Amino acid sequence: MQIRRLKLSGFKSFVEPAELRIEPGLTGVVGPNGCGKSNLLEAIRWVMGESSAKSMRGGGMEDVIFAGTTGRPPRDFAEVVLQGAAADGEELEVVRRIERGAGSAYRVNGRDVRAKDVALVFADAATGAHSPALVSQGRIAAVIAARPAERRQMLEEAAGIAGLHVRRKDAEQK
Ligand code: ATP
Ligand code: MG
Repeated sequence: MQIRRLKLSGFKSFVEPAELRIEPGLTGVVGPNGCGKSNLLEAIRWVMGESSAKSMRGGGMEDVIFAGTTGRPPRDFAEVVLQGAAADGEELEVVRRIERGAGSAYRVNGRDVRAKDVALVFADAATGAHSPALVSQGRIAAVIAARPAERRQMLEEAAGIAGLHVRRKDAEQK
């Protein structure tokens, strides 16, 4: 899929509504430590259905909601909108919103859907919250420090062939 636009509101450090256009080609995000670069990547992962608070660097799912700072009250919801083109070229808009005490809700192209449906939208190996294309800070060091077998598994995941061993074992047993 191709991401063209990202809108954030109340998500982590993006307290005020923010909109980012992503043009074709290479996009770089620069800024001082703590300005929210990693939060942007997490917003992409979150709107694609990330269900692990730990991989969002939080203790609970509501930790993505702006928690407040001195002089700025916390928000009671966070919302991320991802607009772009799906793998088949169709226009795609995915919205995820979380409210304190009410959990997450999703919309795909204006229709209320379940988390399961969002997972289907991003079911191809190249996208989704667990796509090997999303490399978090620290993961590069993990690749370097990994034992050869682990590193091989990471590379196979990145190449999209990780499932082949299972299928080969399956075939050998038949
Ligand atoms: P670095 O260059 O060090 O990697 P970065 O640009 O990636 O920094 P992030 O990790 O994206 O920075 O942003 C961290 C900031 O986001 C911290 O200041 C943290 O307080 C803030 N932050 C994270 N979650 C929330 C939240 N729920 N509410 C308010 N602020 C938050
Ligand atoms: Mg960072």
